[in-house]
Amino acid sequence: TPMDKVLGIHFANVSFPEAMSLLGATLKSSDSSNLFFINAHCLNVSFEDPVYRDVLKQTPLIFPDGSGIRRGCQLQGIPLQANLNGTDLFPELCRLLAEEQKSLYLLGATPGTVEKVAAWATREFPGLRIAGTQHGYFAKDDEAAVIDAINTSGADVLCVAMGVPLQEKWLHRHSGGLNTRLNLAVGGLFDFYAG
Ligand code: UDP
Repeated sequence: TPMDKVLGIHFANVSFPEAMSLLGATLKSSDSSNLFFINAHCLNVSFEDPVYRDVLKQTPLIFPDGSGIRRGCQLQGIPLQANLNGTDLFPELCRLLAEEQKSLYLLGATPGTVEKVAAWATREFPGLRIAGTQHGYFAKDDEAAVIDAINTSGADVLCVAMGVPLQEKWLHRHSGGLNTRLNLAVGGLFDFYAG
């Protein structure tokens, strides 16, 4: 995978179809991979939050999201292959999962919102199985139960929408205990697709 760096954070500099192939490959692998996105806001946060910055540095799969990253790359003389944001990738991921008869678990946003996203995805992608949903405001004491529910659901893919940098730290901490193949941190995506 062609990798580049912007302000010290590496990312996969690939086209949209190549990005989809990378996602497809993680579904076939035996471990639980995290996929994070970086935009200009993430880079700002990463300079104030060394734990988040460290999490990014330890994550093999990061996609570049947004015009800020494109501009940052331009300044370094690096042409960006594609703007790989969650909003554009999510429908394609749903399509792929429906085709491959894999299931998706949605974690994050407010109680009403996450169910709306599940309903939208089920409607839009016939054959897609939503393994379960959980809002993103659970208590620390319920964390083990949340992870149990994801594992019990048999989900292949987990989307976590709890905001930067909480969602990345959460996935970094817990992906070792998850039975999913792929975990994406998707920020405000659920609010967008809840309509
Ligand atoms: N959120 C959550 N749990 C929290 C805090 C936030 O589930 O403890 C959700 C919030 O409801 C929203 C998303 O995380 O849906 C964050 O959206 P935002 O646009 O702020 O995310 P960004 O992409 O900027 O990180």
